[in-house]
Amino acid sequence: MNFYSLNQKAPKVSFKEAVINGIAPDRGLYFPEQIRPLPAVFFDTIENLSKFDIAFTAIRQFVHEDIDDKTLKEIVKDVLDFDFPLVSITENSASLELFHGPTLAFKDVGARFMAQCLGHFSQENTQEITVLVATSGDTGGAVANGFLGVDGVKVVILYPSGKVSDIQEKQLTTLGKNITALEVDGTFDDCQTMVKTAFLDAEITSTKQLTSANSINVARWLPQLFYFLFAYKDTKSKKKDLVFSIPSGNFGNICAGMIAQQLGMPVKHFIAATNVNDVVPRFMQTGRYEPKPSKATISNAMDVGDPSNFVRIRHIYDNDTTKLSANLSSYTFSDAQTREAMLELYTQYGYVADPHGAVGYLGLKKYQEQHPDTFGIFLETAHPVKFLETVEATINEKIAIPEKILKQMNRKKKSIKIATYNEMKQFLLQ
Ligand SMILES: *Cc1c(COP(=O)(O)O)cnc(C)c1O
Repeated sequence: MNFYSLNQKAPKVSFKEAVINGIAPDRGLYFPEQIRPLPAVFFDTIENLSKFDIAFTAIRQFVHEDIDDKTLKEIVKDVLDFDFPLVSITENSASLELFHGPTLAFKDVGARFMAQCLGHFSQENTQEITVLVATSGDTGGAVANGFLGVDGVKVVILYPSGKVSDIQEKQLTTLGKNITALEVDGTFDDCQTMVKTAFLDAEITSTKQLTSANSINVARWLPQLFYFLFAYKDTKSKKKDLVFSIPSGNFGNICAGMIAQQLGMPVKHFIAATNVNDVVPRFMQTGRYEPKPSKATISNAMDVGDPSNFVRIRHIYDNDTTKLSANLSSYTFSDAQTREAMLELYTQYGYVADPHGAVGYLGLKKYQEQHPDTFGIFLETAHPVKFLETVEATINEKIAIPEKILKQMNRKKKSIKIATYNEMKQFLLQ
């Protein structure tokens, strides 16, 4: 299958090229040329399929020209070697827990899938690939872990010194091997600016094959559609209209759910729940897309003022606002509301949610007030321990730290401190 740029001013490319390029030369996001619905029998008998069969069948059409079936089966098996439990909350709702992977973030699946694809492609490539990524927290850990030990791929992660949590810093800085952490004396925006500048710096790109690892990359974005199919399998017997509420920042995860819908999965509606960074909820009300600088919140992985995947969402529904509104509602919630939701989930249902999951819960609750006859699933995207202080202070209860995190906390941090773009450049060129 070919992928085209949504800016329509760049050549079509294969899956392999789309993954290696990250973004098209015209700065557009890549999109699959065709989405062929899966046969009805796939959904009719999904309860008999394993998560590996489901994932393999769903992703195959997008990648099979570049990844043979045997390799794809191995990749899927490797990427999905943990659980995606659906935890019941009320009679009509459940939490889909996506945080049981190695770094306790839902980004593990996309990061691992992309790493395995690049590892496979690098076998045919003579040139080493450098993944350059800036992180404000969760992305870096998932990428570092996913790419660890992948031959032919070097990973360089920039993070703002003193501005990520202890757990997050250890996840970035203790792995070694092909992973290097550059500790930047600056903010997340400084890190991101350095990365963007490097992609446009001919001195670097003429000698290094650079790629990025955020959700604009098709190999990180598309495999997230698996979650929705797993949830469908687990709730099909309820025989109710299914709705998903997704806590959204860059809108990659929810957009992958919409691809599952395009593949034929029966779903009534999507809810994009955001914190006060409300560009999309506003768009749905006014029809005007007005990006803004991001505001800091307790659900900080969603502090995004210009969600990069929203253009893909509009494209899926033919840039038609009526079609879009029939499939998507979007609501915004404050930190105070998020804390209330965390407390409500804990006291009424005994469920400990992280701030992102709580925003998802709020979105679902609001939608179901008008649509009580639906079955709703909200996505719980991070383990509450990753937001320990906020969660403990809100529910007034200590939460246990998982074994794998405790082990990581004892490892030794290794980073290279830099302050300027030139220092990063010298490191890349050496
Ligand atoms: C990245 C992230 C999100 C937002 O996901 P998008 O695909 O960018 O919308 C939500 N929750 C957590 C915990 C995250 O790390």
